[in-house]
Amino acid sequence: MLVMKFGGTSLADRERIDTVVSLVRSRLDRKPVVVCSAHAGVTDLLLQGAHRAAAGEPDLSAVRRREHELLVSLKLSPKLVEDDLERLDQMFRGLALLGELTPRSLDQVAAFGERMSVKAVAAVLRKRRIPATAVQADEAGLVTNGRFGRASPRPEAYTNLARSLRKVKGVPVVTGFIGCDRDGNVTTLGRSGSDYTATIVGRALGVAEVEIWTDVSGVLTADPRTVKDARPVEQLTYAEASELAYYGAKVIHPATIQPAVEKGIPVRILNTLDPTAQGTVIRPPQGRRRPRVTSIASKRGIHLVNIVSGRMLGQSGFMAKVFDAFKRHDVAVDLIATSEVSVTVSVDDTSGLPGVVQDLEAFSKVTVKEGAALVAVIGERMKQASGLAGRVFTAIGEAKVPVLAISYGATKTNLQIVVPEESEKTVVRALHEVLFGDG
Ligand code: ADP
Ligand code: ASP
Ligand code: MG
Repeated sequence: MLVMKFGGTSLADRERIDTVVSLVRSRLDRKPVVVCSAHAGVTDLLLQGAHRAAAGEPDLSAVRRREHELLVSLKLSPKLVEDDLERLDQMFRGLALLGELTPRSLDQVAAFGERMSVKAVAAVLRKRRIPATAVQADEAGLVTNGRFGRASPRPEAYTNLARSLRKVKGVPVVTGFIGCDRDGNVTTLGRSGSDYTATIVGRALGVAEVEIWTDVSGVLTADPRTVKDARPVEQLTYAEASELAYYGAKVIHPATIQPAVEKGIPVRILNTLDPTAQGTVIRPPQGRRRPRVTSIASKRGIHLVNIVSGRMLGQSGFMAKVFDAFKRHDVAVDLIATSEVSVTVSVDDTSGLPGVVQDLEAFSKVTVKEGAALVAVIGERMKQASGLAGRVFTAIGEAKVPVLAISYGATKTNLQIVVPEESEKTVVRALHEVLFGDG
């Protein structure tokens, strides 16, 4: 068996959907299970619509227009999604009456993009004589925890999915991105979450491979929107791919690799616009592992928290108290840098930060600096690559960018550098030139 996941761009219009049909047809002998995102742009329209509805302006017309145009271009009846649009319309009106939008209702609205897209894709497949059935992942048992907007699967999700997908007639076309908690509330796995669904389904069915079809020929050495001559990386280890995604490479959702690792399933990133391109395969390390640099990722909106102990930093228990505070408020820490007298940590999701700061202030002096970007250079056994750190810091120095913090772990697969947000692209380009340039 095989999972084929198609992202929003691969389902954006009739032409792309035609390609999807021929790709599925070409793999019928491998018993594909298809996982779909919403058509490009639909999730954004739904989220904007929900916010506007809660502000008193319920208006479904943009979503309705996009769905109708697509269905008409595919020669399918708009009736196919009429029930979904009707329910969305009621929800928008409800939000307008209440005048508020909870994370729970936002997930319920966001889920409709995938709910509708699987119906279209399954219908097109059937029209082209490929038996297929649309499957709503929440109804098929993808049970998650109750973290709206960033849910992850509960253990029973795997057995549930295996049981229900095995009963499906023809090719199952499963909604990416969505699940439900144990009380039946709809949840989402976070933006780009359909990648995660693909490996969750892959693990549930114990497939031979998960294919993630997108609009670039694999994972590239850097974000192609920042670096024009970024090029595909042929192979990545699970560790490298996880780090890349975690540190901002938009090409896969950060949690995608976890379910694949548990069963050693290879994940292949492929291009719907160029289906014969080799792409990237993500799998356990093969053969001897030489030190190498594979790619550069970055993310903005980073906060740097500097914590100065009233007494000696090394005093036992200080660090534990610091990280307890982060844990209590469920705030994940990316980079940690320590000096004799202070600890600096970088934080990406800052929703719980005010609580952390309050707790830390009980025993230390805290300052928070906003507007930073974290740039990560990723690679296996990078520390052994001789002169790497020197080249990296010379390049940043020559670009005249101040380094706010660094972390270079002994066993880690990455080197992290925090710089001012406005210098993010300059640094990524300079590092790409020195690490991957022709010279
Ligand atoms: P999909 O709709 O298929 O899920 P996404 O837009 O979520 O596609 O992800 C693909 C995009 O990720 C690419 O078009 C590219 O702009 C961006 N991207 C960012 N970093 C990288 C990288 N290192 N390698 C490849 N693509 C990247
Ligand atoms: N449709 C969702 C999003 O836009 C999930 C996905 O595309 O993977 O984030
Ligand atoms: Mg995506």
